[in-house]
Amino acid sequence: MADPSPNQLVSCPFDKAHQVEHSRLHFHINKCKKQHRNSQKVTCPFDSTHIIGSIHLDHHVQTCPKRFILDSQKYIMDNNHRPVVEVQEARSIQSEENWDDEHTSTYVPDLEKKGPHIIRKVQGATPSERRKARMEGIANFKPLE
Ligand SMILES: [Zn+2]
Ligand SMILES: [Zn+2]
Repeated sequence: MADPSPNQLVSCPFDKAHQVEHSRLHFHINKCKKQHRNSQKVTCPFDSTHIIGSIHLDHHVQTCPKRFILDSQKYIMDNNHRPVVEVQEARSIQSEENWDDEHTSTYVPDLEKKGPHIIRKVQGATPSERRKARMEGIANFKPLE
């Protein structure tokens, strides 16, 4: 038997005298939590209906059944991730084909061509400083071969 059926009565983790239908337990816990603010109980990060004494939380987090569900989902997501990578590889092959299309221009940075031909814009300087910097840039300007 896995989870209790939705109509099955379960006892409230804050007060065993509270018998709540399992399907409504998280509503009840939300209400009941406010009346037990001073309780040393904390909510399980994997399931809001798991209320655990804070000293037991570490142990609960290690053994929580919901944690294993999340772990297996994570595992499935990892597997799903691999085909995504393959799709990206397929796209890059497509873009190589596009290079034959003469209407497509692709910017290819060429580190060797960077240098004096680039006139740097000086930002935040006064107009005269900007002008001086521009003139220096023009003085150092060397046309590309
Ligand atoms: Zn309660
Ligand atoms: Zn839990």
